[in-house]
Parts: sequence; C-alpha cells; structure tokens
Amino acid sequence: MKLKLTDLVNSQGTLEFNFSVGDISLEEINPVTIGIQLKLNIQQSGPNFKITGTANLILTEMCDRCLDNYKLDIKAPFSIFVTTQKSLKPGFSESDVILLETNQRDFNLGPTVHDAILLERSIKNLCKEDCLGLCSNCGVNLNNGYCNCASKKIDEKWASLIEINFSHSE
Ligand SMILES: [Zn+2]
Ligand SMILES: [Zn+2]
Repeated sequence: MKLKLTDLVNSQGTLEFNFSVGDISLEEINPVTIGIQLKLNIQQSGPNFKITGTANLILTEMCDRCLDNYKLDIKAPFSIFVTTQKSLKPGFSESDVILLETNQRDFNLGPTVHDAILLERSIKNLCKEDCLGLCSNCGVNLNNGYCNCASKKIDEKWASLIEINFSHSE
C-alpha cells in the first residue's frame, strides 16, 4: 500500500482511492468485498504531512451473543504524521509517525490502516446493541422468536410447589 509523497503534494487536501484487502495482511478478518475504500485528508506543513482518514470496508462477523453471522460496516478512523524529522515533538508515539529517510519518496500506509481496522473491529462484536442471544436451555436464537423454556420453567416450579403442598397435607 505505497503512497508517493508527490501524490500527497498534488492532492490539494484530499485523496480517495481503493485497494485490496490482500495489500495489507489481514488474515484475521472475513471481508464481504475485497476492496477497502480510503478517504484521506492531507495537511502539509513544509516537509511534513499530517494525514487523517477513514478506511471503509464490510466484514462478515460472528455475533458473540447469538453466534449468528452479520455484516459489519467498518469506518475505521486513523491519523498519522509523515515526516523526515527525527527530532519529533514529544507527545507522538511511534505508531503515530511514519519516519522517512531524507531521500525517501514513498511510504507504506498499510500498517496504519491495518491497525485502525482491527481496533475498530474489536469494539463491536454484537449483531445489534440489544441482541437477545441464545436460550441457555435449548439454544434457540431468541432474536428469531421465543422458545418455550421460560414458560416450562414456571410450570416446573408450580409442579414442585404442588408436590410440597401435598406432602405437607398428608
Ligand atoms: Zn446477536
Ligand atoms: Zn429455550
């Protein structure tokens, strides 16, 4: 996922392009489409660039609660500082910066996008906020309709109560 510095300079502030999931090593995910759409905002200050952007793609995920597959529309935000200056201002961690050699003309945005997607993905692992999950007794997906377990449990309680009452009265 190489970007050229001249692309940044000529971008006039925004860049949009698509690339394939295969360009970054994302074996952990299960994409619905192989394309990742990138939208970048670029601010230049001398030889330095600040890139903020989002990576958009759609994944197939498994819900933690009901174990159903669902489509997750990911819009992963990221920002990175591209510079040749080794003396970085404090406050930048290594993952915030792509450090270039003085004669370097391109750089790889892949790791940044990779991390942004994985971070965004780990936040959401439910098919919906109010997923009802599976019945712990019969395993029915309660999003698709209720099972009879809840009413059966009440019946069983009544049955044992009646038995107790009988044994007392004898
Ligand atoms: Zn679910
Ligand atoms: Zn049930």
